[in-house]
Amino acid sequence: MSAQDPAAPTGTSLDEQILAGLDPEQREVATTLRGPVCVLAGAGTGKTRAITHRIAYGIATGVYTPQKVLALTFTARAANEMRNRLRSLGAAGVQTRTFHAAALRQLQYFWPQAVGGPLPGLVEHKARLITEAAQNMRLSTDRAAVRDLAAEIEWAKVSMLTPDTYPARAAGRDMPLGYEVRTVQRLYQSYEELKTDRHLIDFEDVLLLTVAVLEEDERVAATVREQYRHFVVDEYQDVSPLQQRLLDAWLGGRQDVCVVGDASQTIYSFTGATSRHLLEFPRRHPQARVIKLVRDYRSTPQVVETANRLLAARRPGAGSTPGAWATPLHLEAQRPDGPRPSWNEYPDDEAEAAGTAARIKDLVDDGVPAAEIAVLFRTNGQSQAFESALAEAGIGFQLRGTERFFNRPEVKQAVVQLRTAARAAEASDDPVRLVRDILSSLGYSDRAPRSTGAVRERWESLAALVSLADRMAAEATARDEEFTLPDLAAELERRVTQQDAPVMDGVTLASLHSAKGLEWDAVFLAGLSEGLVPIGFAETDDEIDEERRLLYVGITRAREHLVLSWTLSRTPGGRPSRRPSRFLDALREPDIPRRAPRRSRPVRAHS
Ligand code: ATP
Ligand code: MG
Repeated sequence: MSAQDPAAPTGTSLDEQILAGLDPEQREVATTLRGPVCVLAGAGTGKTRAITHRIAYGIATGVYTPQKVLALTFTARAANEMRNRLRSLGAAGVQTRTFHAAALRQLQYFWPQAVGGPLPGLVEHKARLITEAAQNMRLSTDRAAVRDLAAEIEWAKVSMLTPDTYPARAAGRDMPLGYEVRTVQRLYQSYEELKTDRHLIDFEDVLLLTVAVLEEDERVAATVREQYRHFVVDEYQDVSPLQQRLLDAWLGGRQDVCVVGDASQTIYSFTGATSRHLLEFPRRHPQARVIKLVRDYRSTPQVVETANRLLAARRPGAGSTPGAWATPLHLEAQRPDGPRPSWNEYPDDEAEAAGTAARIKDLVDDGVPAAEIAVLFRTNGQSQAFESALAEAGIGFQLRGTERFFNRPEVKQAVVQLRTAARAAEASDDPVRLVRDILSSLGYSDRAPRSTGAVRERWESLAALVSLADRMAAEATARDEEFTLPDLAAELERRVTQQDAPVMDGVTLASLHSAKGLEWDAVFLAGLSEGLVPIGFAETDDEIDEERRLLYVGITRAREHLVLSWTLSRTPGGRPSRRPSRFLDALREPDIPRRAPRRSRPVRAHS
């Protein structure tokens, strides 16, 4: 095919334009439209870009029918991003979904025919049923225990273990609250019974039931397989056994599947995910084309070097799982030089938060947009200190987790009110003003509140809706069109159905886990001390390695500025008993002092 020939003259047809933005290996991904394809590549090498272009290329060349492509992503946000990117490449109409959303849609559609009656209600949170099951068993639980039990049940279900088969596989796992495996098994059983009695299903059931329907009902399977011919999976290193089983059921022995992933970014093992599927893909599909990408387009050489060092220092111990330690890919930086990563030691968490806010302010003053800055940490509990410090410094921020944006009560209220107002709006009304007026009654103000917590989150949600309206108005003006409230209502309608949260301005505060696949100009990795990174409960070699991968994910989110920090004590005036993370040793360049002197001002080894 001429498209694969780098010497081919470049024209301006759509398919050539699509390939123009890709390097030779990415092009190979994009032009290998048929058969199993497996892309093994490190962070920032353009995996997501390559598969997006592959789909667009398949459509532009007429090989794919858009409606017959199913692109599977890890989060609803990633799905929306891919959908938007596809649209801008001229490929609209492709189904881009999470495994869960794709399964739910199919289940809703086929349930009446395959099972009969309406689909049972969906359990959004397991906590209530688990608490009830525990009470029936006369077990005393608190919130943390219920959360741990829910996580254990989820692990069992995505590992495809029933209450009967669970104990054999659970032996050796840390049980919540130190319960016996038998107790957790009974609780799992009781939870399942309560759910069935109430005619409810949970998140994992959605996948389990879809698998069951596809495996047992040939007519349904044939219809679904007729609908979807080509499958693409992003972040394949974190697929669970249950998701893999579903993918197999969708494929039904066919081979048109393209998976991309990076085993060094496997960070969801605790939920039952495993990079085994990625690493064994070539063996399961002997005809697979395996393509490796090594050029890092995202980050400066300074950031890439830091990431490479972290992975090069891995040492599998005697207790590590064979096969789980894939040889890390060495990334080759493509971007021009940037600042060296900076290292900051702080006496306590408050000082770290204040110091971080101060440096963020410097970056913003230097012209880095706040939305291009992120502070990442290991546990959600660390967020609060940064929320306060940023509020104090007058810097806007958003908490990651926009996934459920349209389920937030204030957003639901706002959508209803905007819809009602749209019906009543007069042509003469100024829609931008009207939106502000309506949302003010729900807690919006033009200035961000200086508080944190619920008030602040509510304000951030409403502010996101205001800026959506502002953006739409500006775009309409640019096209020389009028922007009206019904336009906004229609856009909200679309976003609600697609769970497409509006972009929020401000610095992102997020856990390392929720940052995967994303990128920012400046990334602050905070709390890099023993007990947090690696987290205290990580003990085995495999667990410590997962923590290392998590830090690797964090480092590789940065395009340009990377700031590493840790604290010596949790609270001001506390005993300085914390030690910097063991992972930092491998990252230090030889000329960086091993331990920065203690001062209350951050010590900048480099800036
Ligand atoms: P991750 O492992 O973090 O998910 P990834 O491999 O999916 O990363 P992308 O997000 O696709 O990487 O790409 C990283 C960045 O590099 C993006 O900003 C992307 O637009 C850019 N990029 C990728 N390939 C190229 C290229 N050939 N030319 C220019 N920029 C590129
Ligand atoms: Mg990606």
